[in-house]
Amino acid sequence: MAKYVVQKGDTLGSIAKKAYGSAGKYPLIVSANSITNPDRLKVGTVLVIPDQPANGGAPPAPPPPPPSPSAGINVRRLGQLHPVLAARGRAMIDLCSHEGISILVTQALRTWEEQDGLYAKGRTGDPIGKKYIVTNAKGGSSYHNFGLAFDIVILDAIGKADWDTAHPGWKAAAEAGKSVGLEWGGDWKSFKDLPHFQYTAGITLAECRELYAGGLQQIWDRVK
Ligand SMILES: [Zn+2]
Repeated sequence: MAKYVVQKGDTLGSIAKKAYGSAGKYPLIVSANSITNPDRLKVGTVLVIPDQPANGGAPPAPPPPPPSPSAGINVRRLGQLHPVLAARGRAMIDLCSHEGISILVTQALRTWEEQDGLYAKGRTGDPIGKKYIVTNAKGGSSYHNFGLAFDIVILDAIGKADWDTAHPGWKAAAEAGKSVGLEWGGDWKSFKDLPHFQYTAGITLAECRELYAGGLQQIWDRVK
């Protein structure tokens, strides 16, 4: 720690250059002094010149990013799921957020009726057509109906859903999901379902339907 008396013609940059050999280190001086207007240093002002930090003056680590606006929704939706899937889903979202990718969980637990409604899309409900089909699963034949699956969308920089699956965020999400032990619908052969992730621990849908009469917990107890 040293002192420096401001001379005529000094700038923070020139003082930093004298003190540290680099004008770019002037923020060290700013943060050690109460400088209200860095452009108008008063001659005769005594400045504290702090020692350089041990890391050589590298800027401090940036603060963690603020929680994304989707965080609350994600917590709520994942909270409806089997605890192992919920924990892995949170880990997957965390991994992605470290890479600067935001994810919104669009759907998690889905009732049989909701599933039947989805199945009707493109088949019996208007508009009819192959391109409107969103699922091959009728009520009771999707792991969503048993709290064992969730769907996501990648959010762009302003928090809007980005359904363009060529966006690199989709690939990153798939990799993150698989790295925490989730099965990804994009790996399926017959119907690629890129937003879909599930955790079944080998339980079949037939077994799920059978156990469902006893409640979701019956199914979840089997899925370890
Ligand atoms: Zn899904």
